[in-house]
Amino acid sequence: MPVTSAILGFPRMGANRELKFLVEGFWKGTVSETDLLNGAKELREKHWRIQQSKGIDAIPSNDFSLYDHILDAAVTFGAIPERYAGLSGLEQYFAMARGLQKPGTVDVASLPMSKYFDTNYHYVPVPLSPSTVFTLAPNSKPVREFNEAKAIGIKTRPYIVGPVSFLLLARTNKEAPIQFNKLDLIDALVDNYAGLIGELGAAGAEWIQLDEPHLTNDLTPVQQAVYLRAYTRLAAKLAAASVGVKLLVATYFEGLDINADLAFALPGVSAIHADLVRGVDSFTAVVSAAKATGKAVSLGVVNGRNVWKADLEPALRLVEQAVVILGADRVSVASSCSLLHSPHSLDAERLGAQVDRDLVDWMAFAVEKLDEIVVLTKAARFGRQYVRAALDANAKSISGKKESPRINNPAVQARLKAVLPSQLTRKSPYAARRKIQADILKLPKYPTTTIGSFPQTASLRRIRAQFKKGTLSKSEYERLLKEEIAAVVKFQENLDIDVLVHGEAERNDMVEYFGEQLDGVGFTKNGWVQSYGSRCVKPPVIYGDVSRPNAMTVDWTTYAQSLTKRPMKGMLTGPITILCWSFVRDDQPREITAKQIGLAVRDEVVDLEKAGIKVIQIDEPAIREGLPLRRTKWDDYLKWAVDAFLLSSTGVEDGTQIHSHMCYSDFEDIMDAIIQLDCDVLSIESAKSDLKLLQAFQQRAYPNELGPGIFDIHTQRVAPLGEMTNRVDQMQTCLAWDRIWINPDCGLKTRGWEETEAVLKNMVATAKHFRSAA
Ligand code: GLN
Ligand code: ZN
Repeated sequence: MPVTSAILGFPRMGANRELKFLVEGFWKGTVSETDLLNGAKELREKHWRIQQSKGIDAIPSNDFSLYDHILDAAVTFGAIPERYAGLSGLEQYFAMARGLQKPGTVDVASLPMSKYFDTNYHYVPVPLSPSTVFTLAPNSKPVREFNEAKAIGIKTRPYIVGPVSFLLLARTNKEAPIQFNKLDLIDALVDNYAGLIGELGAAGAEWIQLDEPHLTNDLTPVQQAVYLRAYTRLAAKLAAASVGVKLLVATYFEGLDINADLAFALPGVSAIHADLVRGVDSFTAVVSAAKATGKAVSLGVVNGRNVWKADLEPALRLVEQAVVILGADRVSVASSCSLLHSPHSLDAERLGAQVDRDLVDWMAFAVEKLDEIVVLTKAARFGRQYVRAALDANAKSISGKKESPRINNPAVQARLKAVLPSQLTRKSPYAARRKIQADILKLPKYPTTTIGSFPQTASLRRIRAQFKKGTLSKSEYERLLKEEIAAVVKFQENLDIDVLVHGEAERNDMVEYFGEQLDGVGFTKNGWVQSYGSRCVKPPVIYGDVSRPNAMTVDWTTYAQSLTKRPMKGMLTGPITILCWSFVRDDQPREITAKQIGLAVRDEVVDLEKAGIKVIQIDEPAIREGLPLRRTKWDDYLKWAVDAFLLSSTGVEDGTQIHSHMCYSDFEDIMDAIIQLDCDVLSIESAKSDLKLLQAFQQRAYPNELGPGIFDIHTQRVAPLGEMTNRVDQMQTCLAWDRIWINPDCGLKTRGWEETEAVLKNMVATAKHFRSAA
């Protein structure tokens, strides 16, 4: 067998997000079930045919999903929580994903949602308990979709999440006894996997792809033992039933170095897939382990989760080395992970008047990544000569990008190199700043503020869209937005809020808004990737050295300040959040890019201060999610993440009050870094969480001021006054009263005006209640 080509999964939304519109239409009732299922089938066929026509040998099936492939696996093995038991079919499936309310008959909440490793994809974890019984669904989705492809003449390699990762990704039911360990379910689960693999074998599958991404993470000895136990049992079951299907175990998002021996020791597994983009350093370990065990390797050399063209020459050298050591029949060329995390294709980027030719030349989306994989495969099979033109064109793009003046900005590079330690700290320590700020701001006790955005109504979104399209003039746009800002300021004054915001009406998205104004950051027309269910995001593309040619927020903020005597808070997005929510250049460490953004934000902070703004908030909701998967890499990340934030925030005088905001409340384990950020005021999500996080602040004697959100902004429900005062009472068991700010959990942009007014009234009343007691 020659070297083969493979991918681990294909984006399912379709070239124009067809799946999103089908599914959402179905939810609204404008698309029938039959039309939804037919439309989905068409998309699957289309995507298989694209892969076939490009020359991919191992084409996955069952990577498609109407909502989430991890939830699909739970359905395949019958792990359906009790409360959905009365439902069936699509109704049951979507009820698990997003809840279901039918007046008088059904009212079930959805399952929660979790981030899939360090991607922006969110999956639906099912809760497991001792009473969970796995049963293989009859004619399950993997079998149906394998047969569907077979019917159009394509023999696929069915994908399903592997049994150990299935359990590790699942949750433990809250009501389960504490001695219950979800990993105890492994034997029962594996027996069902054996059943499924047997059925797929009977249908004609030769290979199965089992994803075990946890194999690249830190595993406890118990988890390692469970891996061996699971695959020993699976191999025995398959042998006993004479199932001849070969198993590929796929690992990704990190190198396989630490667990390479374990992965290759898994009984009954014929091939291992390793991510050689994130884990290029583990190449030797992987190939040696393959040689020692006689197994095959799938080399993930084309990045499945970024938008850049692969540099084919070094990738090809890895493939060639592996072929020399292992022989061609034991090597395949693949995407590093599923292409689910890439946009569909570059076609749309090439259309229209404003084509950014450089950017198009530098990028490869899923369809173009198929070409890259096939070129590498052919080069390995027949020699470089056979694909000379493609290799030359690739080398030309890669070197063109390296040398482009749009990538390289010597001034930015020099400025970063010249950063002094004094540019990473405020002038005085917090205690001294606190006094100066108190004199300037003269805020009452328990000061109130909000997190930044106010309701974004349909008319507001229309105004922005029309301006973007050019159907609304700049002056008219500015007039309308100023009207909005004035209304938001008045609204806050009427409520008697202490530190005001301008409302962020000009922003579609907190990262996009800044990305559009920064040099070195570009945008795609159609570069959508699935975030969860039918939700897609179109991240900015950071392609070069980042700088800020002009002030980005000063005009709006100073206008808002001119309308009130109360302090107006300038609102910015921090460097780590801009980094984490964008596609990032792969030709320099993320650290450098983050710090460049930090300097650009610093310029804005200094300009705001110069323009008379006394309070400036730099949002960093993504700082926790940027953490590497491996613990050993945390310190390094946290060091540069903190430095990037400090670069952005420390250019001001002591009297300027720096706020930051973070949602997602689970950062007890990064408290050191949070303290090092040294912001004067930090607002965090807190309304729904227990006191664990606040206790962590207490334990560390967090010296600066803290605004734990006192109401949840994700719901329409207006939290009553008593609930909010209770919340503050609880807070005071952990925090000194004179450090507490009163604010919501997050921005209000998704709320309506009416509920916002009602809930903020209660918020201000809460502050006043405690003021009078203090
Ligand atoms: N300032 C932003 C807002 O209020 C913060 C959003 C966020 O933290 N995700 O919308
Ligand atoms: Zn937030």
